[in-house]
Amino acid sequence: MNPVQTIEPRTGTAFELPRGSILTVIDPQGSQVADLVAYARTDVREVISNGRTFDYEETIALTTGHRLWSNRSNPMLEIVEDTVGRHDFLLTPCSEATFRHFYPEHPVHRGCFGNLAEALAPWGIGEDAIPTAFNLFMNVPVAGDTGQIEVLPPLSKPGDFIRLRAETDCIIGLTACSAYASNGGSFKPIDYRID
Ligand SMILES: [Zn+2]
Repeated sequence: MNPVQTIEPRTGTAFELPRGSILTVIDPQGSQVADLVAYARTDVREVISNGRTFDYEETIALTTGHRLWSNRSNPMLEIVEDTVGRHDFLLTPCSEATFRHFYPEHPVHRGCFGNLAEALAPWGIGEDAIPTAFNLFMNVPVAGDTGQIEVLPPLSKPGDFIRLRAETDCIIGLTACSAYASNGGSFKPIDYRID
């Protein structure tokens, strides 16, 4: 088993995840979101797509056994284990603009969007290529009758995790989310391991 690595609060990282590898993302303290994006190693114009994923998986409530699909309709990651069962694939990464919109009383932060852009730059991936992230542990219930959404504290407890297997050679971007509401009001680290 490989060592666990830590993403410090309000930061992000990126790394390659070869086909067949397992990425475990752990919420060590609980109630902390991690935004995940994935690109095809061979052509970074291929990227995870929430719309394709909802279409093929026929649900927006993604958990064990579901796959995350690309804009080119290829499976990129499969969720092979999930101790929480509540994640979001509707909302975009928090950014300077979303901080201005939702938190005018707080200092602006570059958010997951800025952290992802910096981490993914070495692969030639720019801001405009960042899609809607798969937001691990993010709790966004949808009212079935009206479609109204809310951002509530994550359901994850300390040590909860999700495990994803790469279905193709991937470049992964991963953050410890910086937004207030998504994380129950405080910013914690995120741990991950590649096996
Ligand atoms: Zn965020």
